Amino acid sequence: MKNILRLQELDGQLIKLERECNSSNEKQIMSKMSQYVKEAQNKSIELEQNAKKIIADYNAIKQDSEKQYQDIRQLVSKDEKTMTLEEMQKVMSSITQKTNDLYNLEKRLGQISQKMKDILKEFEITKNNVVKARMKHKESKQKYEEKIAKIQPQIDQIQKEKEELKTKANKELLQKYIDKRNDNMYPVFVPLLDGKQCGACRISLPSKQMDKLKEKKFTICEQCGRIIYMD
Ligand SMILES: [Zn+2]
Repeated sequence: MKNILRLQELDGQLIKLERECNSSNEKQIMSKMSQYVKEAQNKSIELEQNAKKIIADYNAIKQDSEKQYQDIRQLVSKDEKTMTLEEMQKVMSSITQKTNDLYNLEKRLGQISQKMKDILKEFEITKNNVVKARMKHKESKQKYEEKIAKIQPQIDQIQKEKEELKTKANKELLQKYIDKRNDNMYPVFVPLLDGKQCGACRISLPSKQMDKLKEKKFTICEQCGRIIYMD
């Protein structure tokens, strides 16, 4: 029991070290920066799609404008001497209508140009932020790796002691311990409390189970599945 409890204690130290690393400032910055870069990439794709749509709109309107302009020129070049007054009025009204249309189209072109400028600006800002985020990620990664390198000897030492303990520990207890650790249980072994309770969930053990515990020096808690041991 002593060996297996020491093994558990060492695993506790490893869990603590791992938790410290994962919750470290550097690790948090790294994940934040990665997240930002991912979002920025999506944003860039969205901006590009918007830009494509706007360019298509622009070209369509431009074509439309040119057609209106040509129509107007054609109307203007008509020989008024051959026209009746009615025809002339029709032509004049057509020219006015088309001139208005042309004016509106140009206004829309202006709006589209502005939109395009806004998109380019946003694209530029996003691009610069991505560069900054990548740099920050790199810095944090370097610091994080330095931190890991610093504690690596400690981890190696713990692993070494663990391997030695595994060869010495009771095989049945060791297998139970490994199985439960694989289910992410920690701690696996808990002491008997007040002579009758599970040291983790505090349920009182039935007398039959207490007998078993006294005989084998350990029993599995029916409520929380941990192994209750007796010194
Ligand atoms: Zn329990």
